Amino acid sequence: MAKKWVYMMAEGDASMRNLLGGKGAGLAEMARIGLPVPPGFTVTTEACNAYYESGGKFPEGMWEQVLAAMKELERQTGKGFGDPNNPLLVSVRSGARVSMPGMMDTVLNLGLNEETLKGLAKLTGNERFAYDAYRRFIQMFSRIVRHVDPAPFERILDEYKEKTAGKQDTDLTTDMLKEIVQKFLAYFKEQTGEDFPTDPYEQLRQAIGAVFGSWMGKRAVDYRNFHKLPHDWGTAVNVVTMVFGNMGEDSGTGVAFTRDPATGENRLYGEYLQNAQGEDVVAGIRTPKKISQLQQDMPEIYQQFAEVAKLLEKHYRDMQDMEFTVERGKLWMLQTRAGKRTAAAAIKIAVDMTHEGLITKEEALLRVEPDQVNQLLLPRFDQASKDEATKQGRLLAKGLNASPGAASGFAALDADTAEAWGLEGKPVILVRPETSPDDVHGMLRARGILTQHGGATSHAAVVARGLGLPCVAGTEALRIDTERKQFTAGGKTLKEGDVISIDGTTGEVFEGKIATIETKFTEQKDLVELLTWADEIKKLGVRANADYPRDAERAREFGAQGIGLCRTEHMFFEEDRLPIVQKMILAETDEEREKYLAQLLPVQRGDFEGIFRVMDGLPVIIRLIDPPLHEFLPSYEELLVKVTELRCRGDNPAELAESEKMLATVRAMREANPMLGLRGCRLGIIMPGITKMQVRAIFEAACNCTREGVDVHVEVMIPLVSHVNELHLMRDTLEAVAKQVMEEQNMKVDYMFGTMIEIPRAALTADQIAEYAEFFSFGTNDMTQMTFGISRDDAEGKFLLKYVEDKILPANPFQVLDRDGVGQMLRIGTERGRKTRPTLEVGICGEHGGEPSSVEFCHMIGLDYVSCSPFRVPIARLAAAQAVAREKAKVAKDV
Ligand code: ADP
Ligand code: MG
Ligand code: MG
Repeated sequence: MAKKWVYMMAEGDASMRNLLGGKGAGLAEMARIGLPVPPGFTVTTEACNAYYESGGKFPEGMWEQVLAAMKELERQTGKGFGDPNNPLLVSVRSGARVSMPGMMDTVLNLGLNEETLKGLAKLTGNERFAYDAYRRFIQMFSRIVRHVDPAPFERILDEYKEKTAGKQDTDLTTDMLKEIVQKFLAYFKEQTGEDFPTDPYEQLRQAIGAVFGSWMGKRAVDYRNFHKLPHDWGTAVNVVTMVFGNMGEDSGTGVAFTRDPATGENRLYGEYLQNAQGEDVVAGIRTPKKISQLQQDMPEIYQQFAEVAKLLEKHYRDMQDMEFTVERGKLWMLQTRAGKRTAAAAIKIAVDMTHEGLITKEEALLRVEPDQVNQLLLPRFDQASKDEATKQGRLLAKGLNASPGAASGFAALDADTAEAWGLEGKPVILVRPETSPDDVHGMLRARGILTQHGGATSHAAVVARGLGLPCVAGTEALRIDTERKQFTAGGKTLKEGDVISIDGTTGEVFEGKIATIETKFTEQKDLVELLTWADEIKKLGVRANADYPRDAERAREFGAQGIGLCRTEHMFFEEDRLPIVQKMILAETDEEREKYLAQLLPVQRGDFEGIFRVMDGLPVIIRLIDPPLHEFLPSYEELLVKVTELRCRGDNPAELAESEKMLATVRAMREANPMLGLRGCRLGIIMPGITKMQVRAIFEAACNCTREGVDVHVEVMIPLVSHVNELHLMRDTLEAVAKQVMEEQNMKVDYMFGTMIEIPRAALTADQIAEYAEFFSFGTNDMTQMTFGISRDDAEGKFLLKYVEDKILPANPFQVLDRDGVGQMLRIGTERGRKTRPTLEVGICGEHGGEPSSVEFCHMIGLDYVSCSPFRVPIARLAAAQAVAREKAKVAKDV
C-alpha cells in the first residue's frame, strides 16, 4: 500500500505540526475541539519533500489520495467538485511547520469555470458575487500558480473602478465584472499561450504543484536563510472548502489577535472588512475597520468570535492570531496560530498569563526570547528633540503605529536599494506604497519601514513586528512616486537618500534625524518582575564587566550580582592620566619610574574606591594591567612622520629630541604579534612596579572604603597566565604588597587572588594553576582567538563572516561560544581546576557572557557565573533561567 500522504481534517490534531504544517495542525485542532471550521484535508510536508526528491513529481499514490479526499469532501459538504448545479469550491493553502508570513500564497475559489460559475450564481442568487469570485480566482491562479505578471490585472480593475462613483472594488457592477473576467482570460492566454484551465481537477493539480514549488521560491529560501530555518522541512498543502465573506453586508473577513500584539494588553485586537474575501484585509486594498466595530455591525458574531478567541487562548495557553470569515451571518474559523508580538507584548503577556494562572513562571520565562529583552531596552526618540523637530516643521506626517521602536536612516524607495545600502552598513528606512513578500529582502536590511497604505495587520506591519523593526503604516498623507524616487508629505518633497526618522510607537514621521534616548530599565515593571522569577530559578550568577563607577551603577540597576571584570587600563587612557602613564613608560631609571607610579597611585585608588562604594556588598574582580605598553604610546607610523617633519623644518630642536626619544622607545617595543607579546602577567613580571602600584591602590581603597562602612569583596585577577610559575611568582609578590597595606592600615579585607584563563595551556594545566588561584575567569575572547588560531581584528573583516555565510562555521565564534572546541577548554579547565581546589570560583568574562547560547553552555558545565556588559545583564539573567527550565524540560537550545 502506498504511504499515507493525505489526512482529512478529522484525522489530525495540534501535535502533528511537523507533518501537517502549522496551518493544517491548527485547523484540525480547531475542528477537533468543536469550532466551526470548513471541511478540508492536508497533503503532508513529507509529500512536498518526496516531490523534490523525485525532481518535481507527485509521489506515488498521492494524487489518488487527493482524489479520494475530494470525494470525501463532496460527501461532507453535499456539493460536487465541478458540479454546475451545486459546485464545491476550495482554497489551496500552503503551510509550513512554522508560519512564514506571506512567504507562500493562497489560491481561493478554486473549482470555478464558466459552468460552475453559473451554478454558484444561481445557488446564491447573486450573480455579481459569482463573477467577483471568478475574477479573483483567475487573478490569483495566474499570479500564484502560473507566475503571470499581476500588474495588468490591477490596471484592468482600476480602469473599471475609475468608472464607478465610489471607486472601490465593491462598486463594480455585474456587467463590469463580466467584462473584466473576459479581459482577464484573454490576458492569461496572451501570457501563457494556453487557455485558462477549466477542469477543476487540473486546476487543483497545478495549484498543489505550485505550493510545493513555492517552498523553494526565492522569497521563501531568503526568509529561511535569514532565520536559519532548515530547507528540508517542506510545506504542507491545505485544501479547504470555501466559505465566502464577499456575499454582502452580512458577510466579511478579518484577522484578530486575542491580545494586543504591540502592547500585550488583554483585549481583542484586529481588523475586518465587510463584504470582502481572503487577503483583502492584509493586502490593504480597502482600509479595514477595527474589530471592536464588529460589535456594532454584527453583535452576535462578535460575541461568538470573542468566545472562540478566549477558548483558543485557554486551549493553546498562548496568545493566538486568528483568521475568520463570516458568510451570511455565520462565523467560520480559518486559521489560528501563536501570534507574533513585539518584545514589550511578549513580556507583558507572559507575566499576565502567569498571574491569570494560565502558565507557570518557568513557562513564562521560556516565552520571552532573550533578544526581545534587548529590544525593549533599545533607544527611543528623545521627546525634546521631537518637539524641536515639530517646531521646525519637520513633522512630515502621522501614520499608524504598526510596530514600536524608533529609527532614523536614509530613505530607500525600493527593496533592492534598501538591501544594497543596508549591506554597506548604512542605516536605511524602506519607504513603500505598501510591501509584499517581494520586498522582504530589503526589509531584512532596513532599520525601519514606512508605508503609505495598509493597516496594523498589513504585510509591512506583520513582518516588521516579527523582525523587531519599527514600522509606520497607512501613512495616507504620504505620496510616494516610486518612478521618480521621491515622496511628498507635509508640503515637502524628499528624495531617495534623504534622512528621515520614524517613530513606530506613535506613528510619527520626521524629516532629518531625531536624537534617541535609552529606555529606563526600572520603569519596565513587567520585565523587572519576569527577571525576579528568573533569579529565583537560575543557578548561574550574573555579573557585569564595568570599568567605571557609572557602569557599575547601571550594572546594579540591571540586576548584576557583582563585577566580573574591571579593566584597569581604561583608567590609564583618561586625558589627565595618559601623559603620566607615558612618562612612566619612558622612564630610564627605576627612581624616575617610581616617581610617576607614585603620581598614578592616588588616581587609581580613587577609581577603585568609586567602584567599591557602588558595589557595596558584592564581589568585584579587578584585572591588573593587561595590554602591551605600546598601546599607551603614539603609533610608530605617526611618530615617524612627525620626527621626519621636525627634522626637515629644523625649527624646534627640543620637540624633535623628545619625539626622537619616544620614537626610539616605540621602535624598541614593536612586536610582530603584540597580542602574543609582552602583556598581561609577563609585563608584571618584567616591570613589577606597575602591578605592585595597582595592588597597593586596590588594597588602600578597600581599607578606606571598609572604614567608611562599605562591605568590600575584592578579587585580584592576574591576566594571561600560561605557566603556573608565572602565577606563583606574581601572586607571591603581589600578595605581599596586599598584606603590607593591610598591616599598615591595620585592617582585614575580604580578598582573593586568581587568574584569567585565556591561553589553552593554562586550561590544560588548570590543576597546577589552581594551586595558586582561588578563582578562574575564562577570558573567552582571547581563548577563542588562541584556540582557533584566528586573529579576531584581522579575521572578521576578511574571511570570518564569509566562513559563517558559507556555513564553514555555524556561527561567528566570537559571538556564540564554540562548544566543541573553546567550550572544551572551559570544561577541562573547570574540571581540572576544581580537582585541585574544590572551592575554586569559576566564571567567564568574554563577550559570550551576554549571549544566550553561550550562557546556556556555561550553565551546563557548572560555572559559577557569567559576566557581560551591563546592558546585557538582563539578557544573561533570562538566558541563565531558561537554561535551567530547558534542562528540566530536556530540550536543548539549538546552537
Ligand atoms: P496566509 O498563510 O498567507 O495567511 P492563508 O492560507 O491563511 O494564507 O489564506 C489567506 C486568507 O485567505 C485567509 O485569511 C482567509 O481569509 C482566506 N481563505 C483561505 N482559505 C479560505 C476558505 N476556505 N474560505 C474562505 N477564505 C479562505
Ligand atoms: Mg499570504
Ligand atoms: Mg493565514
